[in-house]
Amino acid sequence: MSDSEHDHQYALETLAVRAGQVRSHEGEQSEPIFATTSFVFGSAAEAAARFSGEQPGNIYSRFTNPTVRVFEQRIAALEGGERAVATSSGMSAILVACLGLLKSGDHIVSSNGVFGSTVILFNNYLAKFGIDTSYVPLTDVDAWRSAIRPNTRLLFMETPANPLTEVADIAALAALAHEQGCLLVADNTVCTAALQRPLELGADVVVVSATKYIDGQGRAIGGAVIGREKEVGEDVYGALRTTGPCLSPFHAWLFLKGLETLSVRMQAHCVNALSLAQWLEQQPAVERVYYPGLTTHPQHELATRQQRGYGGLLSFEVRGGRDAAWKVIDQTRLISITANLGDTKSTITHPATTTHGRLTPEARAAAGIKDNLVRVAVGLENVDDLKADLARGLSRV
Ligand SMILES: *Cc1c(COP(=O)(O)O)cnc(C)c1O
Repeated sequence: MSDSEHDHQYALETLAVRAGQVRSHEGEQSEPIFATTSFVFGSAAEAAARFSGEQPGNIYSRFTNPTVRVFEQRIAALEGGERAVATSSGMSAILVACLGLLKSGDHIVSSNGVFGSTVILFNNYLAKFGIDTSYVPLTDVDAWRSAIRPNTRLLFMETPANPLTEVADIAALAALAHEQGCLLVADNTVCTAALQRPLELGADVVVVSATKYIDGQGRAIGGAVIGREKEVGEDVYGALRTTGPCLSPFHAWLFLKGLETLSVRMQAHCVNALSLAQWLEQQPAVERVYYPGLTTHPQHELATRQQRGYGGLLSFEVRGGRDAAWKVIDQTRLISITANLGDTKSTITHPATTTHGRLTPEARAAAGIKDNLVRVAVGLENVDDLKADLARGLSRV
């Protein structure tokens, strides 16, 4: 399984457990953690050959670490990319993708409602260097088309979107990007490769926060950029090795262990989330439920075509306003009140006053985030316990 040329014959679950592993002379079963900053050369000539790039091999762990490399090869195999670059966080994955692929004067078209820090990165930091961003509704392909300018270089999106779980047509956006000479970058954090493979649908680059479902147990921050050798292996890798937001070998090892169980965990998240969504739909105190697995979801068919499962994220509107939503949240004893997602532990949050609290009321309304909206990232507890935890508050509103 160390020979990536042979990896294509294996299914996703097999790649998740095996891809990229190279056993050392110790014959270890589990991948070792190479906790070393630098690597020793046999001679001055070998050092020179490594530094010039004539000879491949380890030099310094900012850009060549064997444990990190196994994680990169494994996630590249899962996403179906030629190459992956591991990063210190999901945000640094997005940053190094931008540093590698963009220059001053370029323009980004992004979907509305991408991760909050992504919006701040685009608006406050990339803008300082002459890169502008326009925002469009995720599911409106005509709006994407109209927003593209001659200097547009990237189309950027997340699907399903958080918290309302709208689903973008990845193949349609990829076709549009290529017709217009742009690259499509997809943030695949919410589904992961276990449920959705954007590169297969035509996206050029995938970014992912490994902090969420890939670790899956709320322990470590990290990320990755996955795509072709040309963009990721040259442009993005070049930006990472110089600017330095690299993944630590310890976290790479945690994420390797996370990838090994990713498929079974994602399936369990999906089963729990669908059960909870269907139950919420029947509660008199619930006005509306947003979950791609429900037949009432506007992009249910697209999600069924494009994804292997509907994911662990759902949201719902409680009858009443902010107070009713807060009551449901405050009556929970099990579900954690936190904005994180992708953990075995279920989390609950009030988007209008937390993740989307800095938007103006008008911008929030335009994004469809109402004051009575509650988001749940459904974990792996028994779903009956989760229902009981929400029923306590719902019976009081
Ligand atoms: C969390 C998250 C990020 C950022 O990842 P970090 O690891 O927190 O830096 C980016 N995109 C999405 C969709 C996320 O949920």
